[in-house]
Amino acid sequence: MSNLLESIIRPEILALSAYHVPPAKGMIKLDAMENPYTLPLILREEISQLAEDAHINRYPDPGAASLKVALKDTLSIPSEMAIMLGNGSDEIIQIIALATAKPGAVLMGVDPGFAMFRIIATFCGMSYVGVPLATDFSLDLDAMLAAISQHQPAVIFLAYPNNPSGNLFDAEAICRIIEATPGIVIVDEAYHAFADATFMDILTQYPNLLLMRTLSKLGLAGLRLGLLVGRPEWLAQLEKLRLPYNVGIMTQLLVERVLQHYDILLEQAASIKAERTILRARLATMGSIEVFPSDANFVLFRLNEAGRIFQELQQHGILIKNLDGTHPLLKDCLRVTVGTSDENTQFCKTLRRILERPLLLA
Ligand code: PMP
Repeated sequence: MSNLLESIIRPEILALSAYHVPPAKGMIKLDAMENPYTLPLILREEISQLAEDAHINRYPDPGAASLKVALKDTLSIPSEMAIMLGNGSDEIIQIIALATAKPGAVLMGVDPGFAMFRIIATFCGMSYVGVPLATDFSLDLDAMLAAISQHQPAVIFLAYPNNPSGNLFDAEAICRIIEATPGIVIVDEAYHAFADATFMDILTQYPNLLLMRTLSKLGLAGLRLGLLVGRPEWLAQLEKLRLPYNVGIMTQLLVERVLQHYDILLEQAASIKAERTILRARLATMGSIEVFPSDANFVLFRLNEAGRIFQELQQHGILIKNLDGTHPLLKDCLRVTVGTSDENTQFCKTLRRILERPLLLA
């Protein structure tokens, strides 16, 4: 069997590890940057009605025209820009990689960065080049410019704010990169709702700039909707790779309805930002913890024996993300998603107890 696998499956796929999603049943789930709040009952009732009336025996609108109009209005997308929708923004990354994967083509990102950029580049047959960030996780512009000149990337993905570090890169530096690269730059604003910055307004200035957003972090992760905004010429090419009906009828109907109440999602994002401030302050009082700044709905922090602490948290029913060992800059780093006030309190209490235990025993 293993010979057969090896003769059939591409070597880069055999060498790849699948994106690991740990089981979270019954746990306080602070590992995946989800919005911890549910929608108000009245809106959930409206959604139930939409689901009841939906024609699920029919294929959805392949172009999702009505949803796109709602997105354009709600997200202040410049009128001359087009939108492409994906089954989550992961699918959009895949479409971009498939479209640009000429033999030898390079997809560039920063390291540490969002893991799917490397994984998708690899399985689409592209070479991935990750340019190391500075030790404070800021963009190393000189290193980026040197890598661009050396590798001539077809595509550069920059998450703004970055995952897993949580910070916004210097916008001027990103503009220099957009100007210097021979290919396209996708600014991935997955965490836009928690940051006070965007490239949406300057999208029209650069012919090689595209902007990606997702509704996942805003409270609709289960519906899977990502969007790419850019010039119609680019999107017309990428649309050829989008599989028909990739956005289901429930997603189209429900997202459109929730967008009519966008203020609710923004209020939830504001609460998450307020909770983030409290969470960072609490972590900072724990002495031995280095807490990194965050413009996202998660906080990166460093502490001794991160691997053991992560496991102990898990044993106490709290799931966060262990990044130790994934990149030298992330040594002893853990990432926690901002949850509800109660969840954050539970997390901090448990962490404090774990950290204080050796002292009690001494
Ligand atoms: N971009 C970044 C930077 C992310 O962190 C994530 C999710 N973790 C995504 C894109 C993908 O989000 P989704 O597929 O849910 O839209």
